[in-house]
Amino acid sequence: MLRDETPDEARFRADVAAWLQANVPPALRHSTVRPPPADCMPWYRSLARQGWVAPHWPRAHGGMEATPVQQVILMEEMARAGAPDIPVQGLNHIGPILMKCGTAAQQAQHLAPILSGDIVWCQGYSEPGSGSDLASLRTRAVLDGGDLVISGHKIWTTWGHHADWMFALVRTADGAAKQHGITFVLIDLKTPGISRRPIRTIAGDDEFCEVFMDSVRVPLHNVVGELDRGWAVATTLLAEERLRIGAPNQALKALERMRRLVRTLPPDARNDEALAQAEMECETLTASFLALAEAEHSGGSADSSYLKILATETVQSILDLLQQVAGEAASLREPLMLEDGWLDYSEMFLQARRLSIYGGTNEVQRNLIAAKVIGLPPMAGAQARRKE
Ligand SMILES: Cc1cc2nc3c(=O)[nH]c(=O)nc-3n(C[C@H](O)[C@H](O)[C@H](O)COP(=O)(O)OP(=O)(O)OC[C@H]3O[C@@H](n4cnc5c(N)ncnc54)[C@H](O)[C@@H]3O)c2cc1C
Repeated sequence: MLRDETPDEARFRADVAAWLQANVPPALRHSTVRPPPADCMPWYRSLARQGWVAPHWPRAHGGMEATPVQQVILMEEMARAGAPDIPVQGLNHIGPILMKCGTAAQQAQHLAPILSGDIVWCQGYSEPGSGSDLASLRTRAVLDGGDLVISGHKIWTTWGHHADWMFALVRTADGAAKQHGITFVLIDLKTPGISRRPIRTIAGDDEFCEVFMDSVRVPLHNVVGELDRGWAVATTLLAEERLRIGAPNQALKALERMRRLVRTLPPDARNDEALAQAEMECETLTASFLALAEAEHSGGSADSSYLKILATETVQSILDLLQQVAGEAASLREPLMLEDGWLDYSEMFLQARRLSIYGGTNEVQRNLIAAKVIGLPPMAGAQARRKE
C-alpha cells in the first residue's frame, strides 16, 4: 500500500484487520476455490451482520456507502486475512441494476434478501453460440395473459446450480436490429420447467452450470425496464460488472499467495525481484481502480473496459510469476495447509484462465475501446458483441 492514509482510514483498516483475524473461519482461510454454499453463506451472513458485505451500496438501500479508498482497504485486508470469496451476482450485478432500473416493488422484494444472504442470484445471459455475440440469444419468451412463458438454454451460469433466482435476457420479439426485442427478466428458479446441470472447470471446481427452461411461467411484473427493451438494462449491468471485475481483490489475493510462498522459501534475490514486480503490478491496478471508482462515485461516467483488461491480466501475470517462483512445486495440484491457511501453487493459476473470458472476453473489451474510446471504424465482419 503506497497511499497516504488519513487517521480515519488507518483506524478503519485496523478495525477491519482485527475483525477478520477473529472471524474468518480458519478452515476457509486462503481457500483455493469459492467454498460451497454450506460453508460460504455463513461467512457471507457474518460479513452482512458486520455491515461490510455491500461496501459500494448506498446507505438508503442498506449498504455501507464506503469511499473507494475504504473499499480498497477492505479488499486489501480480506486478501491478507485469506477471507474466502463470496457470490457476487446479487451484490455487484442485479442489486445495483435494480436500484437504477427496477420498480419500487422489485427493490422492496429483492434488495434486502441479497444483503442478508437469504437469496443467491445468478446471471443468465450467455447461451451456446451466444457469448460474445450476446444479442443473438435464442431463449424465447411468449406473452400469455399476465405471464411470459420462457423456453431456452443458458450456459456458463456462475453458481446457477446453487442460486435461488436468475436475472436473464430472453427474446420477446424479432426486430430489424437483434438488440431490439430482448427483455430483461427476473426468474424464480423454483418455478416448474427449470433444470440445471453443473459444469466442471479446468481447475476442478463446479463454479458454473447449464440452465434449461421448458415453458417456464414468469409474471410480467418480473420484467425489469420495458418489454422488448431490455438491451439497455443489460448493457448498463455489463458496465457495472466490468467495474467490479476491475477491482483489485483477485490481484491482491494472488499477491498475498506470492508473499506467503516467498516467505516459505530460502532467501533468493530472484524471488524478491518477482515479488517486487507483483507488488508494483498490483499497485498500478489499485491506483487505476481508485481513479475509475472515484469518477463513478462522484457521478461521472467511466469506461470500465480497460480496467477489466488490466485487472484480469494483472492477476494472470502475478500468478505466472508465482509459478516461476514455485519452480517444480508449481506442478502440485494438492494445496499445502500452512499455519495461516491453505497455500496452493496451481489452483488459482488454473482458475485465473477464466478471468479474461467472463464478463465479456478481453478481445471484445479491446474492440469496445477501439470503437468507443479511440473511435476506430468497426472491422468488416466483426460481431456486435455486447455493443452499447
Ligand atoms: C468462469 C466463467 C463464468 C461465467 N459466468 C457467466 C455467468 O454467470 N453468466 C453468463 O451469462 N455468462 C457467464 N460466462 C460466459 C462468458 O460471458 C462467455 O464465456 C464470454 O462472453 C465468451 O463467450 P463464449 O464463451 O461464447 O465465446 P465466443 O464468443 O465463442 O468467443 C470465442 C473466442 O473468440 C473471440 N471473439 C469472439 N468474437 C470476437 C470479436 N468480435 N472480436 C475479437 N474476438 C472475438 C473471443 O474473445 C474468444 O476468444 C462465464 C464464463 C466463464 C469462463
